[in-house]
Amino acid sequence: MCCIGGCTAQFISQQQMVLEEKKRQYESYFRPDSSNGHRWNKIHNSLPQINRALSAIKNGTYGICESCGEYIPQERLRAVPGATRCIECQENWRYQWTR
Ligand SMILES: [Zn+2]
Repeated sequence: MCCIGGCTAQFISQQQMVLEEKKRQYESYFRPDSSNGHRWNKIHNSLPQINRALSAIKNGTYGICESCGEYIPQERLRAVPGATRCIECQENWRYQWTR
């Protein structure tokens, strides 16, 4: 059975572990001798997102959409641990910047 408070806290601490692990991996790629441009690009985009998600965990706002303030579904957070927006807002945001 699932309880609201306990399971959310457990879920968030799991996500925090996943994010910290990813962060460690990404930071280890940041060596100056790394010449893989494609990989670096991915890291360049992902690391700030992971840091944002980690600071949201610290602030107690993890899992809440930055844009609309709605809860982000846990399935989305499992798939994208660094997500700080719900799918709808992410799409709008992407549209805004790629237009
Ligand atoms: Zn939203």
